[in-house]
Parts: sequence; structure tokens; C-alpha cells
Amino acid sequence: METYLNQLNEAQKEAVLQQDGPMIVIAGAGSGKTRVLTYRIAYLMNQGVDPFNILSLTFTNKAAREMKERIAQIVGSSEAKNLWMGTFHSVFAKILRIESDRLGYPNNFTIYDTQDSDRLIASIIKEMNLDKDVYKYKQIRSRISSYKNNLITVKAYFQNPELIEADAMARRPLMGDIYKTYVDRCFKAGAMDFDDLLLKTNELLTRFPEVLAKYQNRFKYILVDEYQDTNHSQYLIVRALSDKFQNICVVGDDAQSIYAFRGANINNILNFQKDYDDVKVFRLEQNYRSTKNIVNAANSIIDKNQTKLDKIVWTANDEGTKIQVHRSLTDADEGRYVANSIFENKMNNQLPNSDFAILYRTNAQSRSIEDALRKRDIPYRIYGGLSFYQRKEIKDVLSYLRLVINPADEEALKRVINFPARGIGQTTIDKLIVAANAEDKTMFEVMKNIDSMPVNVNSGTKTKLQNFVTLIESYQVMNQKADVFELAEHVTRTSGLIKEFNKDGTPEGVTRMENIEELLNGMKDFVEGQKEVADATGSLAEFLEDVALATDLDQDKGDSDHVALMTIHLAKGLEFPYVYIVGLEEDLFPSAMSMNTRSELEEERRLFYVALTRAEKQAYLTYALSRYRWGKLIDSEPSRFIEEIDEQYLDIVTPIEERRINPMLSADIFGDVEPNKVRFKPAKQANFKKGKPKKEQEKFQVSTPKNLKPVSESNGKANLFDNNLAVGNMVKHLRFGTGEVLKIEGSGADTKAEIKFQHGGTKKLLLRFAKLEVL
Ligand code: ATP
Ligand code: MG
Repeated sequence: METYLNQLNEAQKEAVLQQDGPMIVIAGAGSGKTRVLTYRIAYLMNQGVDPFNILSLTFTNKAAREMKERIAQIVGSSEAKNLWMGTFHSVFAKILRIESDRLGYPNNFTIYDTQDSDRLIASIIKEMNLDKDVYKYKQIRSRISSYKNNLITVKAYFQNPELIEADAMARRPLMGDIYKTYVDRCFKAGAMDFDDLLLKTNELLTRFPEVLAKYQNRFKYILVDEYQDTNHSQYLIVRALSDKFQNICVVGDDAQSIYAFRGANINNILNFQKDYDDVKVFRLEQNYRSTKNIVNAANSIIDKNQTKLDKIVWTANDEGTKIQVHRSLTDADEGRYVANSIFENKMNNQLPNSDFAILYRTNAQSRSIEDALRKRDIPYRIYGGLSFYQRKEIKDVLSYLRLVINPADEEALKRVINFPARGIGQTTIDKLIVAANAEDKTMFEVMKNIDSMPVNVNSGTKTKLQNFVTLIESYQVMNQKADVFELAEHVTRTSGLIKEFNKDGTPEGVTRMENIEELLNGMKDFVEGQKEVADATGSLAEFLEDVALATDLDQDKGDSDHVALMTIHLAKGLEFPYVYIVGLEEDLFPSAMSMNTRSELEEERRLFYVALTRAEKQAYLTYALSRYRWGKLIDSEPSRFIEEIDEQYLDIVTPIEERRINPMLSADIFGDVEPNKVRFKPAKQANFKKGKPKKEQEKFQVSTPKNLKPVSESNGKANLFDNNLAVGNMVKHLRFGTGEVLKIEGSGADTKAEIKFQHGGTKKLLLRFAKLEVL
């Protein structure tokens, strides 16, 4: 028996060894579902299945990467490299790129991120002269998204009186027209939004039987993690692709289905056994992640849900400490409690920051926690914010690059046509949009042929437009020969972007410059890395696709030690030794917006189950008696979820001292931070009404000096010129893993190191760009 199979219990092993036919692993949190999926892939490969024939779909790209690394350790990295593995979006974006011409799209189609979609929808609402308070672009986007995820095309929409009626009732009678215009404009711009990546894949597989046959034959084995959160569109893709060989393995936990609001359909997992013949069902019951207290407490919670598959979860782990429940007076107190508790745990047990996670229901809750962590000097990182690639300056650079490969890309064009300023005003841009619509041309084509277009602009403006066209065309020429890095470096200089950000001179401007530098570093790394990957081209198109689908989770290179802050939704599948679940208050968690029906409440309870089961050693539940929400101090009650946990697993900590802290009298709010490190000034609308305790931070804007800057704001980049790298050092590289430095040559900016990596052979890397961590 292979040694890695010994790292599985009997039930897990059975699931791993089940080679052919449809199968489902349905089991509670922490029972090794993801491990089974990972080892199963390794096992299949050991049985001689070609990695090219295995498709594995995960919930995040980070999860896919980690899985691949583990598989590489078992079967070797050269084999693992050829696995098709990633999120639905990233895998099918690749397939669409190969097949796009069948759908009338260029191979180099752009992927519009949510921001691009929002901008386009806002622009359409404006062009249609609609009231933007009635037609809210975010609502419209989520509506369009839900149509697409349910395969309701524009045509299907207009054939469905119920939908039309529903939108009319919602005072949005022109919803269908907006949908149509949005779809047309994306198509004309050669752009797909995130939902299109699934919708168009479905279209491809339905309309072209030969394409379906090709990918059915290719993906002889299909595996899906977190199957409980697949939406209808994803479900249909999996169904279609697995139809021929029926070697489909899905793993999931109905008790962790938490994305219904984004279209996930829990019935996909509940009905799996009806979808295929002779489905083998595997149940895993032993939890390896958490203490008995945590496992039992989580069981007692999920027991309250009516809609569920009955499952047993037990653990052989220690009893552990009871779950600590802590009440605070205000959200600021809550933050302080969490920060102090983390500090104590760290000191008492000598733990790294990365052992701790703070989970909340809504992003807005992070602020009071952040304040407290900063004051305690505890480094932290917030996940779920903008990805690096969505920052303004980065999107500016990327927009130029998007235009290079796809000049039809309307959102990219609108973004940079006058940035840096070239004297092309909004009126001119509006005229271009109108002409493009009238002539059925792209904006770029209109600009290119401006003389024969019905655009009424003066000759000065014409020249400016033509200059812009020439600029982009010159980049296109360069793209034929240069690599991604060289091109981007040239673009940032010649477009005027660098000059623009440099002249700014403010700290924000400096940060922007640093970010652009970081982007260029990443590109260099990409270029170097791609040379090693079998079927990668290292092309600009490939780089842009990677970044379009990147989330800030993917940015995490594990290179800094910080406490993780994130919403519970984002924490799915992850684990941390110490977990703090904050804001356990009625109307916040469960959310006021999700208490109207039993099924909504049950989804909130599942969310709580997910939160609690992230903890390995110790869980903390906190709530505050009053909290600032929407600018008002609101009294709150403890969440029903606390009461629902069997009391024997709880340790209800009563605060020793409950004080309402008067910020005017006490320096306490600044915790351990020396007073001279903090400057504060009354905020504009300070409200000092007598007798009404207000939350401290509302009254003061605390500006922290640089050395207290949260990790999430610092760019975390190692200064590689300062790298004291020596022959014999062990280093870690983002892409190639651990390696030993064999040789160092060159000097200054050209210093190169020859490194022998454990998985990936020997490489020569330019230290200026290689992301190396000395171990
Ligand atoms: P979730 O439902 O949260 O996604 P999961 O069922 O996917 O959880 P895994 O993440 O695969 O569970 O496993 C939970 C933890 O238990 C991991 O740290 C994993 O390495 C460990 N683990 C799983 N199976 C075993 C085993 N047989 N022996 C030792 N450790 C195990
Ligand atoms: Mg998992």
C-alpha cells in the first residue's frame, strides 16, 4: 500500500480507492473531504490515469494551488503540472479562449470584473436617461447575474412574462432593455463578465456537440470540492461533461451551504443521487480539525436546522477548552477584548499571529476590531477587500494593456482615454459612445476612422483622439516582440502614468508608485515562471486572464505573519487554531435581512456552523450590548445562536469590570500605545450630548503614524536589494517552493542567484524581481 494512503482512515481510504463511477462524499466539517479529493487525484495518477484527463474544480484558486502542491509532493511536480485544476471560472475561461470563435468572440476576449460591469451598467442607465435612484446599478448587476446563472438569456427573458412582470412590479420596467443593451455592449467589446464564463461554457457545450464530445473525452475524471455551493450554471456544466464516463466525484456538506444569496443551489448536493445511476455514497464521520468541545458544540447548533441530511461527526481529539463567550458594552470594547485576548494567547503560548482568525458577518464590523489591533500593535490583514489588481493605479496600467490585446474593450478605453489627462473631455467621450452605437462600431474604430464618422468634434480634438489611437497601436507593435514585463514597463513610462503619480507627491501617490513597481515585479516573476511551465505561453493575454480572476486571497503569499480578518463566507474550507467570532447579536448575526423565512434563518445557522468549525483549538464568541450601525448607537441583544449551543460546551465569561469609557477623561481608549505616537482631533460632527455615551472612535479620528500602519496597507514587499543572500541559504519562492542557493553572480540590480528548487529544478533568478524569502 502506498505510504500516502496510510495518512487516511478507513472510510477516507475507501473513498480514495473507489476509482470509477459516480460518487459523493458527504460529510461534516473537518472530516477530510478536501483531503480525500486531493489524495484521490494522486491515487488516480498512480493508477496510470493521465493528468490531462483529470479535471478538479475548487472554490478558490488558492485551494487549487495548495491541492496541486500536495499532489506534487506525492506524484512529482512534472506530472502534477498537467492537471486541470482551479475554480470553475478559471478553468472554463481557458476553454472558452480555445473555442471562443465558435461563439463569435475573439480568443483574446477581455474578462470584465465586477467593477467593469458596474461601470458599464451605470453608463447604460445614464445613456437611457433613467433615474439612477430607481435603477440602482448594483441591484441591476445582481439581477443580471442571477438571470445568467439560471441560464436565462435575453431572449429567454423576453419570452417569460413572469420575469417581465416581476421587474415591472419592482418598478424597473426597463430591466429587460438594460439587460439586452448590457449583453450587446459586452459582446461588441469582446468582453465576458464573470457569469458569462459559465453561461457561455453552457452555450458552447449545448450548441456544439463536437465540442462537448471533445471535453467529455478529455475529462475522464471530474472532481468537485464544496459541491453544496454550486449554482445552476455550474451544475449543468458538470452534468454535461461527466455524462459520458460518469466518473464524477463530488464532495461537500449540505450543512455548509452558505451562498444561496449568490445563486448556489443546495438541491444540487441533495439530488446528486438522483442525477446519476449507481451512485456510491461515502460518509466520513471523524473530524480531525477541532477539539471535542468545538465539534460537539457545532453539532448541537446544526441540529436545530430542519432541512438537513443527518450526519454523525465525532473526534478523537482532546476535550479542549470550552468555548468562551464574552459580552462587551460596546463594539469598541469588543475590539479591545479580542485584541487583548489574542495578545495574551500569543504571549502565554508563544504563538505566531497566523494562528488567529477573527470572523464576522459583515465587512463593516472590521473597523472597531482593526482599531483595537492597531493599538495593540498586532499585525493583521483584512481579506475580501479589493484585490491588488483592482486598485486604481493597477487597473489604469492594466487597462492600457487590455487595449493592446483587445482595442474593442470599451471599459478599458473609457478608463484611460483621458488618464493621464490628454484634453479629451466627457462630452467627446459621450459623442464617441453615441457614434459607436449608431454605426455599430467599437469606440476605438470610431476614433480610428474619425474623419468618416458622424462625430462632431473640432480638429484639435480629432488630433488628440488620433494620437491616442497611434499610442495604443505602437504598444501593439511592441507586444509582438516584447514580453509582458518589458511592454508594461514601457507603457507606464510612455503613457504618462508614472509622471502622473510621481507629481502627486502625497503619501497616496508614493503608495501608488510602489504598487506599480510591485505589479512590474510580479510581471517579471510571471515571465520567468512561465518559461518553466509546459503549455504556458507567458503571453500578455494569459497574464491578464490570471489577474482578472485573482482575488485578494490569491495575493496571500504566506510571507508575512498576521492575524486574519475576514467574513465567514470567505473562511469556508479554511482552518485556524484560534477563532474569534464577533458581533454575535440579533439582527447582525443572524442578519436582520435573513430572518423572514425559515430557510433564510437556516442559512444563517449554517453560516454560524461554518464559522465555529474553522477553529482547531479554541473558539471565542463575542457580542456587544450596543453597537454603532449606520451612524447610530443601537442597543443589541445576544444572538440566538449562542443560546442554541448546548450550555455544557460554553464558558460564559462575565466581564470583571464594565466601564463606560469617557474619551474626554480617559486615555484608556488608546490601550498600550504611547500617547505621543497618536495624534487625534475631534471629527467634524462630534456629538457630545450629555448623558449619552457615544462610541469613542466616532468622536476622534485617530491617525496612526507609519510604524503602526496595518499590514493590509503596507505593501509587504521585501526589499530585495537588501537581501543578504549567500550560497548555501535555503529560500522559499512563491512559485517554485523551497530551494538552496547554489551560486550568486552579478551585482547591484543585476544580481542573480542560481537556486536548486526541490520541485522545479535549478533556476537562475534575478534577485531584483524574484520573490524570495530566506528561510
Ligand atoms: P471543510 O468541511 O471545512 O472543508 P474538510 O472535510 O474538507 O473540511 P479537510 O480540510 O480535508 O476537511 O481536513 C481537516 C483537517 O484534518 C486538515 O487539517 C486535514 O489535514 C486533517 N485530516 C484529514 N484527514 C486526516 C487523517 N486521516 N489523519 C490526520 N489528519 C487528517
Ligand atoms: Mg474542505
